Amino acid sequence: MVLPSYNLDRQRELIAMYPQQPLKGQFALVTGANSGIGEGCVRHLAAAGAGVVVNYVRGPEAADAIVADIVGSGGRAIAIMADVSNEEQVIAMFKQAVAEFGTLDIVVPNAGLQQDSKFENMTVAQWDLVMNVNLKGQFLCAREAVREFERRGFRDVSRALGKIVCMSSVHEVIPWAGHVNYAASKGGVKLFMQSLAQEISDRRIRVNSIAPGAIATPINKPAWDTDAAEAKLLDLIPYNRVGIPDDIGQACVWLASDASDYVVGTTLFVDGGMTLCEGFATGG
Ligand code: NAD
Repeated sequence: MVLPSYNLDRQRELIAMYPQQPLKGQFALVTGANSGIGEGCVRHLAAAGAGVVVNYVRGPEAADAIVADIVGSGGRAIAIMADVSNEEQVIAMFKQAVAEFGTLDIVVPNAGLQQDSKFENMTVAQWDLVMNVNLKGQFLCAREAVREFERRGFRDVSRALGKIVCMSSVHEVIPWAGHVNYAASKGGVKLFMQSLAQEISDRRIRVNSIAPGAIATPINKPAWDTDAAEAKLLDLIPYNRVGIPDDIGQACVWLASDASDYVVGTTLFVDGGMTLCEGFATGG
């Protein structure tokens, strides 16, 4: 399959999808936003009216191009470099975002990676990198988000004090041989999100997750970029279509907006039915 590309014209089309501008006056930060799902989320949040921070750790050109498209289509956006697994850099990123926009209303800890290995060959470095980015990175970003929501107090742009949308995966519930570190990190995100929601929702901070299925992005390119690979992947997807970043971007806008104001501590599976266990479609 060919991944649909984003550009200035596409950004204008996305704005037309949100005539009511549900996030107008709000500010959002998305980590790992210069690629794949993070880019989809940040472009949709901006199209829905939010000013956005495009976080990246490498690839400033891609982040700058996204900022240029958003600003060029009438929105507000800045790019900020930070490694989400580094406490000092995360704190500095939030400080810079608040200095620029005044506050943040929506935080999407999305950055993630894979370090795949046969289990007995998995190195501590592979284990630690996945845990540090996929799980500790979510902790550090969510903690700064909560601190900022509390500092700023309520304002009249949303019914919630703030919204956190964690990027999980279908692998928070589907075990994944050969990817033990990744599945463990996403299983961790599940209970991290739920426990945090339980702890802070009485302060009107909404914490939820999106669990994408197979979304065509650079992280899983070998799984979709040839016809044979795509056909094999479709065996796992009842809806018979590989997902694209727009599918997740739209879900992210909904979870960040007041349309989902009563949705708390939930994982929204956006997976074309992957979690329905396609192998059982004919009775098993
Ligand atoms: P991607 O590789 O396109 O994007 C990952 C982003 O995270 C990149 O921008 C990368 O630079 C960034 N990143 C990595 N380490 C970082 C760090 N230390 N600090 C800041 N940013 C860092 O992949 P993607 O598919 O867009 O993945 C985004 C998220 O979605 C990940 O959490 C991934 O686990 C999750 N996810 C993806 C799929 C899928 O099918 N693509 C499915 C389920 C979950």
